[in-house]
Amino acid sequence: MASWCDRCGGALADGDHTRCTAARALEPPRFCPDCRRRMKVQVLPSGWSASCAVHGRTGPDQPRSATGR
Ligand SMILES: [Zn+2]
Ligand SMILES: [Zn+2]
Repeated sequence: MASWCDRCGGALADGDHTRCTAARALEPPRFCPDCRRRMKVQVLPSGWSASCAVHGRTGPDQPRSATGR
């Protein structure tokens, strides 16, 4: 389970991250949700990839191009 907000780096249990979640639909993450380290983010023409020095690479969570809207 993620403990940290992958956008602002704050604790998920502490505060409201609704806006972060909304922004994350469009932006790559900045922090590792598991260890809160800053991730190395690469923006690619097809999306993005982010990698944590400890936890490795994360892809886009769910490519939902066909989920309507
Ligand atoms: Zn946040
Ligand atoms: Zn990590």
